[in-house]
Amino acid sequence: MKRVAMNIAAALAVAGVGAFTGAQAQEYPGNKPVQAVVPFAAGGPTDKVARELTMVMSKHLGTTIVIENLGGAGGTIGAKKVAQAKGDGYTILIHHIGMSTAPALYRNLGFDPLKDFEMVGEVADVPMVLVGNKQLPPANFKDLVPYIKANASKLSLANAGIGSASHLCGLLFQSAIQTELTTVPYKGTAPALTDILGGQVNLICDQTTNIAGQLKANALKPYAAMQSRRVEAFKDIPTAAEQGLPGVEVKIWHAMYAPKGTPKPVIDKLSAALQKAVADPTFRAKMAELGAEAVPAQRATPDSLRTFLTAEINKWTPVIKKAGVYAD
Ligand code: ASP
Repeated sequence: MKRVAMNIAAALAVAGVGAFTGAQAQEYPGNKPVQAVVPFAAGGPTDKVARELTMVMSKHLGTTIVIENLGGAGGTIGAKKVAQAKGDGYTILIHHIGMSTAPALYRNLGFDPLKDFEMVGEVADVPMVLVGNKQLPPANFKDLVPYIKANASKLSLANAGIGSASHLCGLLFQSAIQTELTTVPYKGTAPALTDILGGQVNLICDQTTNIAGQLKANALKPYAAMQSRRVEAFKDIPTAAEQGLPGVEVKIWHAMYAPKGTPKPVIDKLSAALQKAVADPTFRAKMAELGAEAVPAQRATPDSLRTFLTAEINKWTPVIKKAGVYAD
């Protein structure tokens, strides 16, 4: 009898169940820091959202949240690490739209976004702008498109790996102008931007959270906002549709996850702190300054994220399958 009980306990521990008692969940987080994995390079757009968020959220959670940047393969390396981590609330993931495109793009993904994670909630939406370096001759989007068509073999487009926001936006753009460019993948758009500014790569479709500073300093050529309306913080940049290229629209949403098996009381505490953080005026103002928008608190919940993630996977999977793009 005792042996059976021990075997059951061992099996539950392996499954991550019972590894955490009810009392421990009540004590969570205590003074132990929480590690938030950002699956892209430091200093980039997802990192900026994550750092601004965790600074405010730490206060509401009652412990420090430390960021670990684990970039590469469009965010899938960092996401996989969290999928395999212990579900005790001390490892979480802050990821973007790539969570919904990866299942179609990577045939050997190694995790299932819906089955291997507990949902915590959505965080913020970030718009994208197509920018080039100052050396690029076209002064505006209308001149850029024919210039690209005439010089495609000489021009390059940076991205943060297959399934990243910059990759998806680049795919939409290239398909809309029916011209393929040489693409250059990076571990995040922070290092890509360094090369854009240095002139090693010509163009990138990037999130405003990464390029707001350079746009304000007039250090880049902004060609088009890749959404249906102009970006609030950058009203002078016309949309692609306004400049004759409708349908090139992509909104980059961000969300927070924990490994499967993280106890519900812990998820509830994380989600409550997240809801307070997205409603916090400091976080909202910071996002607005970077051209982004913190979600309303009712979207920062597990149920809302599950519904949204499911819808996004169902939206992107047929599009990607039809395009026949695979990462492996
Ligand atoms: N989110 C990526 C980063 O933080 C960029 C991208 O997805 O394009 O670098």
